[in-house]
Amino acid sequence: MQTTTELTDYMNFTTLLDDEERLVRETARTFINEQVLPIIDGYAQDERFPSHLVPVMGEMGFFGPTLPEKYGCAGLSNVAYGLLMYELERGDSALRSMASVQGSLVMYPIYAYGSALQKEYWLPRMATGEVIGCFGLTEPDHGSNPSGMRTKAVREPGGKWRLNGTKMWITNGTLADVAVVWAKAEEGIRGFLVEKGTPGFSAPQMKGKWSLRASVTSELILDNVLVDEEKSLLPEVVGIKGPLGCLTQARYGIAWGALGAADNCYQTALEYAKERIQFDKPIAAFQLQQKKLTEMVTELTKGQLLALQLGRLKDRGEYSPAQVSMAKMNNVAIALDICRVARTMLGANGIMGEYPIMRHANNLESVYTYEGTHDMHTLIVGQEVTGIAAYR
Ligand code: FAD
Repeated sequence: MQTTTELTDYMNFTTLLDDEERLVRETARTFINEQVLPIIDGYAQDERFPSHLVPVMGEMGFFGPTLPEKYGCAGLSNVAYGLLMYELERGDSALRSMASVQGSLVMYPIYAYGSALQKEYWLPRMATGEVIGCFGLTEPDHGSNPSGMRTKAVREPGGKWRLNGTKMWITNGTLADVAVVWAKAEEGIRGFLVEKGTPGFSAPQMKGKWSLRASVTSELILDNVLVDEEKSLLPEVVGIKGPLGCLTQARYGIAWGALGAADNCYQTALEYAKERIQFDKPIAAFQLQQKKLTEMVTELTKGQLLALQLGRLKDRGEYSPAQVSMAKMNNVAIALDICRVARTMLGANGIMGEYPIMRHANNLESVYTYEGTHDMHTLIVGQEVTGIAAYR
């Protein structure tokens, strides 16, 4: 199996990182090189998630790493978090998706919208990976427009809530010990923590994907699920701003992560081009192939600098959701292009699991769509620059 361990850093952006950020990247790189790249193709081929890596990732502090140390988290900068996502997705989008959901879509809403009791109960065990979470927003008939959701939450006597509805495309769903479920209540959209095993709640796995095959994707079925308000309701948020606030965190990580997949494909194509001989020359000697490599490394470098500047703004609390949209939209699109062009450079070998390219390219088809489609992010930036919303 061909596994490149090179890092692309054409503009020396490493010089813009502090010691802690470099250390996080090195730790994650070593983990990916040693424990993920040698095995991930087999898991993707078998449509299985490598669950044995979850406690290892927890021990390394990969879950919710920007949250405070008092909850067992690492209290890292957003740039360090981005570098971590880059490395995880250099391994596979499934690992980055798992960590994004755990940290940004489950730990973050518990931290930002939960009660003191909920934070103390869930966060330390989620940081270690002992507890896995999922985030249920999308429904069969409501994807880009989650405000139209049909899942209902009705207040019942005795401090209870009754939940009914179906969620779809939920990462980690079948694996999860706890689901953050967004549902429409009388006063607006509310978030609930629903534990695995609660009567009426099930999470069947969706099989047969050609993308993110090493990630578990599930339905969430809520059939008259009765939950306790104190344990389950996230008290500090009402409305669509609740789930959107979480998505902004996760999209930021994706803007970095997609570049990791692209980096792995670029380096694979570069190495291959230097070794593959046709017409008595390495194919890297042909102008057409050099043009491809030049365009790939240029786009990758621009994406790295965009992500880094966004991370610095986020660390200073000076960023906007539309800036996150621009970075997610651009970096996923260029990453997908890089993977597709890298595939052409390997010729027939490019379609084989022996090389990581087809796996990354197929994964990025999901990444292009989830956490807000490329189109929706285009329209969010369009609204920001024109002042006119074109999506409704
Ligand atoms: P639709 O909203 O039906 O869109 C279809 C097409 O129409 C797209 O091209 C879209 O851009 C376009 N479109 C829609 N509205 C407009 C408009 N106003 N203007 C122009 N074009 C428009 N969801 C979760 O809640 N939790 C998860 O953990 C999760 N994990 C996922 C994992 C995977 C592998 C995948 C594939 C999806 C996951 N999702 C998850 C769901 C994901 O967020 C949705 O698929 C996404 O939001 C798009 O919704 P949709 O698929 O219903 O597409």
